[in-house]
Amino acid sequence: MAMKTRRLLAVMVGGVFCLAVMSLYRMLEVMQGAELQQGRETPAGQVDIDLSRVQEKIDKLEHLLSDNNRLVATLRDSLLHRKASWQTGGGNASSDSTHSRAETTPGCRLAKEMKDGTDGVQLLDVYNLLPFDNPDGGAWKQGFEIRYKGNEWDEQPLEVFLVPHSHNDPGWLKTFDRYYQDQTKHILNNMLIKLNEDSRRKMIWAEISYFSKWWNDVDEQKRAMVKRLLKAGQLELVTGGWVMADEANSHYFALLDQLIEGHQWIQRHLGVRPSSGWAVDPFGHSPSMTYLLKGAGLQDMVIQRVHYAVKKHFAHQQTLEFLWRQSWDSSPRSDITCHMMPFYSYDVPHTCGPHPAVCCQFDFHRLPGGRVFCPWRIPPQPITEQNVQERAHLLLDQYRQKSRLFRSPVLLVPLGDDFRFVEATEWDAQFTNYQKLFDYFDQHPKLHVKARFGTLSDYFKALHRHLSEAGTTLPTLRGDFFTYADRDDHYWSGFFTSRPFYKRLDRTLEATLRASEILFSLTLAEMRRFHADGRLAADFPAREHFRRLTDGRRSLALFQHHDAVTGTARDPVVVDYGTRLFHSILNLHQVLQSSAHWLLLLDKSEYRHDQSKPLLQMDDVMSAQDALPQKTPLTLSDEPRSLIVFNPTEQLRTSVVSVVVDAPDARVVDAETGRPMAAQISAVWEEPSRASAEAFQLHFVAELPPLSLVVYHVTKASAGSAYQAQYTFHRRGNVPAVQADHFQVSRSEGHADAPLSLSNKHIQIWSSPESGLLQKLRLQSGLVREVQVQFLWYGTRTRANRDKSGAYLFLPGEEGAQLYSSSEPPLVRVSRGPIFSDITSCFRHFTHRVRLFHLDGHAGKSLEISNMVDIRSEVNRELAMRLVSSVASGNSFYTDLNGFQMQQRRTLAKLPLQANFYPMSSASFLQDSTSRVSLLSAQSQAVASLRPGQLEVVLDRRLQQDDNRGLGQGVTDNKLTASLYHLLLEDRRGGAQEVGGASVEHLSLLAHLTSLSLCHPPITMIAPIDSQLPKLHPFLPLRSSLPCDIHLLNLRTLEDAQEAETPSQEVALLLHRKGFDCSSAPEPPLQCTWSAHEEVNLDDLFSPLHFRSVRRSGLTLLREDDEPESAQQQQPPRITRLRPMEISAFRAEID
Ligand SMILES: [Zn+2]
Repeated sequence: MAMKTRRLLAVMVGGVFCLAVMSLYRMLEVMQGAELQQGRETPAGQVDIDLSRVQEKIDKLEHLLSDNNRLVATLRDSLLHRKASWQTGGGNASSDSTHSRAETTPGCRLAKEMKDGTDGVQLLDVYNLLPFDNPDGGAWKQGFEIRYKGNEWDEQPLEVFLVPHSHNDPGWLKTFDRYYQDQTKHILNNMLIKLNEDSRRKMIWAEISYFSKWWNDVDEQKRAMVKRLLKAGQLELVTGGWVMADEANSHYFALLDQLIEGHQWIQRHLGVRPSSGWAVDPFGHSPSMTYLLKGAGLQDMVIQRVHYAVKKHFAHQQTLEFLWRQSWDSSPRSDITCHMMPFYSYDVPHTCGPHPAVCCQFDFHRLPGGRVFCPWRIPPQPITEQNVQERAHLLLDQYRQKSRLFRSPVLLVPLGDDFRFVEATEWDAQFTNYQKLFDYFDQHPKLHVKARFGTLSDYFKALHRHLSEAGTTLPTLRGDFFTYADRDDHYWSGFFTSRPFYKRLDRTLEATLRASEILFSLTLAEMRRFHADGRLAADFPAREHFRRLTDGRRSLALFQHHDAVTGTARDPVVVDYGTRLFHSILNLHQVLQSSAHWLLLLDKSEYRHDQSKPLLQMDDVMSAQDALPQKTPLTLSDEPRSLIVFNPTEQLRTSVVSVVVDAPDARVVDAETGRPMAAQISAVWEEPSRASAEAFQLHFVAELPPLSLVVYHVTKASAGSAYQAQYTFHRRGNVPAVQADHFQVSRSEGHADAPLSLSNKHIQIWSSPESGLLQKLRLQSGLVREVQVQFLWYGTRTRANRDKSGAYLFLPGEEGAQLYSSSEPPLVRVSRGPIFSDITSCFRHFTHRVRLFHLDGHAGKSLEISNMVDIRSEVNRELAMRLVSSVASGNSFYTDLNGFQMQQRRTLAKLPLQANFYPMSSASFLQDSTSRVSLLSAQSQAVASLRPGQLEVVLDRRLQQDDNRGLGQGVTDNKLTASLYHLLLEDRRGGAQEVGGASVEHLSLLAHLTSLSLCHPPITMIAPIDSQLPKLHPFLPLRSSLPCDIHLLNLRTLEDAQEAETPSQEVALLLHRKGFDCSSAPEPPLQCTWSAHEEVNLDDLFSPLHFRSVRRSGLTLLREDDEPESAQQQQPPRITRLRPMEISAFRAEID
C-alpha cells in the first residue's frame, strides 16, 4: 500500500473515532437529563419497588461511561500507533491497533512463547526429579562426602574471600530500638575503630534501617570515616534495602518501596550504590525480589535458605552459582548472578566447609571462656606459632572440600552470625586469628591458596574474572525457592499465615501509602500550576506531610523485614510493629485529608490548614493497633452532608461506597450534577439476628473516574423512599427471633431444601440452604462449575516428643484436615437488594459472607467473599477455607509471587502435606481446558491444592508452643481477623490442557482489574455539617483510564537534593505493564483497552497532565542510573517503551 493511501486511511479511521466519541458524550448528557427529570416525577414514598428498572438505568449509565472511556483509550492507542509508524517510516504493515487481534498483542504472546519448555534449569523439573529421601550424608548431614585429590589447584590457586558480616534483625526477640541500643550501635561504632586499625580488614552491612539510625547518632568525623572506608572498599553496603525483606508474604509494591527508601538514603548520605545482594535469612527466595534487585542496578546476589534437598542436588551438579532468570523472560535481560550457600546455615560452623564440628573451631568468638561455645564440643584454639600449621591445614581441607561444589577456584566464605561483632574483643579474636592463618597460607605457596578478608563485590569481581578467563558461563535457572525446609519434614509453610491480622494491616498501610503518595504528588503539581510561579499554597503543610509520607514509607519498609510481615517476632515486638503501622496510617490520613481539601476547593484562597480541625475526616477509623476499622456514623438531616470519594486506581470504576448513617432512609446525589445515585439501605447487625435500631448502612453506586476525587451529597429522605435490603433467615431446626425494624424480614422454618440462589446478569450462584456455603456457579455463557466452600481444622502432631507447629513451621496432625462442624447449625442470612445481594453464614468461629454485586463492568463478574475469624478459644488449631471445584486441574495450580507474577505449582504425593503449601500474596488459580477459577485476595496467606480441583487457604493459626527456631514462644496473640477475596470463574477458549513441563501463565485482564479494585478500594472522607462549607468541585486529573494492562504502581515525590526532609519538584513515576492471559476473553468485552504495542506516549497516557524533563531511570531512581542526556526527549511526544511484565521507572516533573 502506498504511503499516502495509508495515511489517508489512518486519518479517516481517526475521524470516525472522534465522531463516535462526540456522539457518545451527547448521548450521555441526554441520558443524564432524562434521569434527573424522572427523579423529579417519581412520587416520594413509592412503595412498589421496581428493582429491575433501577438496575437497567444503572446499567445504561455505566455502559455509556465505559464505552466512552474505552473509545477515548482506543483513539489514543490508534493515534499513538500512527505517530509511531510515521516515525519509523511505516514499516509495520498492520494498521490494526485495537484489541480485536488480542492474540497478537505482546501481553498475550508472552505466555504462549514461554510454554514449550525453556532453556536452563527449571525448578519444577528439579522437584519432579528429587526423591526427597533425606539420607544421612555423614559429616555434612544433608549432603554427601566430598573428595579431592589435592592437585586441583596447582594450575589455578584457590582464592578465598572471607566476608565478615553481622546479621541484624530490625526486630525479632527485641524491638528494633532495643536491638539498636543493646547491640547494633556498638557493632557499628566498633566497626569504625577496628576496620581503621588494618586496611586488610573488611565488613559488609545490609540493613539501612539500622545504618541510617546510627548515622543520625554519630558526628561528622565518624561520618567522614564511614565514607573513607566505603571508598577504600573496606566496607560495603549490600542490597541496600531498608531491611532484608521477607520474600513470601511481601507485596512487590512494598518490596520495591523499601529498596527505594534504602537506596535513596545511601545516595543522599554516602554517594555510593549497592552492587551485590545479600539475603541469608529470609525463609525462601522469590524471583520477584531478584527482578527488583536487577532493576535497581545490582549484578550479583547471595541467597541461603533453600530446601536442603535442592541444595544437595545443586551441589552435585555444581549449579550453586547460576544466572537467575525470570520465568517469563525470553531474553537474558533479567539475569542476575546468584550464589546459593551450600550448607545448613549462614553461621560459621556451616560456612567454612561441609564439617560443622571443624568449622566451629574457626569461629574465634567461641574461644573458651566466652559466652558462646561449640555444640560439637571441640572448642576453637587461639592461633599460635605452635599450632598454626595444623590449624591452617585443617581449615584448608574444609575450604578445598567446599570449593569442589563450585565451578571456579574462587571461594566465598562468610564470617559472621546474628548480631556479631558487638564487642571490641570479638573483632580482635576474629581478625587477628584469621590474619595469622592467611599469613601462613601466604608463606607456603605450595598450598596453592590465597586467602583474605573480602567484601561481596571483591568475591564476585574475582568470580567473573575467572569465568571470563575460562570462557565459561553459569547455567540459567528459572523458578522460585518455596517452600523452604531446613531439616527433615520441617517445612516453613506456617509463617505464610502466622499473625494474619497484621498481614492484612500491612496491605492496608500499603494501599493507604500509595493513595497518599499519588494524591500528594498531584496536589503539589496542581499548586505549582495554580500559582504559576511554582510556589505552593502558603498554608499547606507540605514539609510536615512529606515527613508523614517518609514515616509511612519507613514503617511499611520496616514491616517487610523477615520477622515482621512473616509473623515470627515475639509478642511485644509484634505490638511495636503494629503500633508503627497504625500510627503511619493515621499520619497518612492527614496527608489525604488536606490534599483532598485543597484540590476540591473551588476558591483556593479559602484554604486554611487547621491541624486540630481538618475540614475532612476519614470515614474508616481504626481505634487501636489491633482493632479492625470502624465506620464513623453520619447524622443525616435535610441539609446535605458531603462525602468525598477518592479513586486511587488508574481506571474508571463503578464501586459501591458504604457509609453508616442514622436513618433508614437516605438519598445520595452527585454534588456536581445533582444526579441521584442508585442506593441501598442495609441493616447494621449487632448480633447475627439483631439489627441496630440506630445505625444503618447506606450503600451507593459511585462512578469514579481514574484518580479522581468526587463529591456526593447525602440527605435524609422521606420514609420508605429508599430501597431497603430484604432479609431471609434460615436455620435447620429453629430460626431465632429476628429483630430488624425498618426491614422486610422473612423466616424459612427448616423445611426448605431447595438451594439458595443469587444472580445478576453475569453469574448465578447456588448455596446450601443448611450452611449457606457456596456450591455451584453458572456464567451467562453457560459455563457451569461446582465450587463448594468448606471450612476445615488442622491440628498439630499429638504424640509426645514429636515436633509441633509454631510460628514458622506447619506440622499438621497425622489425620490431616477435619471438616469444620459445630454442634448447632449456623444461622444463614440472605440479603437481597438492587445494588448487591449476599448470603451470610454465622458460625461459632467465623462469619462467612458471599456477595454478588448487581453491577455492570468487572465488579459484577466476580463474587466477593469475606471472612471474619475468631479462634481465640482454640488450642493448637488452624482454620482453613477450601474450595472444592469440578475444574479438572490435575495436580497443577498457580500462585502469585509477591503480586508481581504467577508461578506454577505441582502438588506432589512424595512430599508431606505441609510441603505442598505455598505463599499467596494476591492470587491463585486452577484451570482446565475450558475454565479457570481464580481466587484473588487482599492479604497474604498460605495456599494449597491438595487434590485436583481444590484450592485452600489457611485463615488463622493458634499454636501453644515454640517450634525451635529461636523465637521461644508460640503464637497465641490471635485477634478478630478479617480476610477478603474475589472469586472469579472464567471461560477459557483455546487454553491448553494442563500437561507436564512448566508453563508460564498470567491472570486475565478481568482478574487484574478485579485484583486492582480489591487491593485499592475507594477512600471515603466526610465533611462536617456546615452550611458555611466552602464550595467544592470534583478533581479529575486524567481524561481517560490508562490501558488496563498498565498499572500506575506509584507517583512518589522525591526528597529535595539540597534541603533535607523537603519535597522536591521531582516525582518517581513507576509504571508496571502487566502480562495477561488471553484465553479467558470475557463477554461482553472489558471496558478498557490495552495497547498492541510496547511503545506508549506518556503525555497521552496521563493527559491532560504533562511531564517535564522525563528521564528513564533504574527502579530505585538513583541519579547515576538515569538514561543519558542524549536519550531524553525534551519535547513531546514522549514515546517510551513499556515491555510486558516489566516495571519502568522515570524521574520527572509534573507540569
Ligand atoms: Zn534474620
